[in-house]
Amino acid sequence: GDPHKKDIVVCIGYTAPKWALTKRTIERITTVFLGRDFNLLLADEDSDMPGLDPGQIVFADASGNLVIPAENRGVQLNEVGPIRPRHIADYFDPFTHMLVAADNTNTQNADFGIAQFPGRNLVIRSHFFALGPDPFGTEYQAKDAMHELGHNFGLCHPNASDDSCPTGAIPTSERNGASSCMGSPADDGGLFNGILPNVTAITNAFSRPLDYSPTQWTNIDVASSRQ
Ligand SMILES: [Zn+2]
Repeated sequence: GDPHKKDIVVCIGYTAPKWALTKRTIERITTVFLGRDFNLLLADEDSDMPGLDPGQIVFADASGNLVIPAENRGVQLNEVGPIRPRHIADYFDPFTHMLVAADNTNTQNADFGIAQFPGRNLVIRSHFFALGPDPFGTEYQAKDAMHELGHNFGLCHPNASDDSCPTGAIPTSERNGASSCMGSPADDGGLFNGILPNVTAITNAFSRPLDYSPTQWTNIDVASSRQ
């Protein structure tokens, strides 16, 4: 087997420093993966790992000049590929995920994030709207990043994890939004009914664990995300 199959590297970029992953988010996700024998390195702007340049991302303007985006600029998934070479050295590219933390994804039906499925590019909405990255200690940001990373590894939403899921089915007892951070408000009808809060979706969203379900952990297919 591949001795490095459980080593995972994530380069974290942001459109503005306020959207950076918090130290708590990084520590919590790292700890959860370590508990499952995965060495997950989340490299942020303070990392001195040679070959990675995490932190501020830039985009080319109409004249081809690289500029720092406006703080509220959304980032679409297909914009992540072109920025990878500025942050990830060639020899890191085949196994390194590029996570962009931004104000929003500028993508319909992807309010909180969007990820290649499988693959190595992902975008997250860094804050839960005005409530910030960790409202009421719910670890929104950590769960959101882990959710989109799960899609990179080929995981599906729990209630879509039947035989049609590329990484395999999970038991019906695990197929609910409360069993995994792979649950999605979209599966509960969205966070809002028009302008009214959808209490079920909000309650489920805040009660999800910072964890995958037991079978999802064994179904993770890191190799499928690699070249
Ligand atoms: Zn999802």
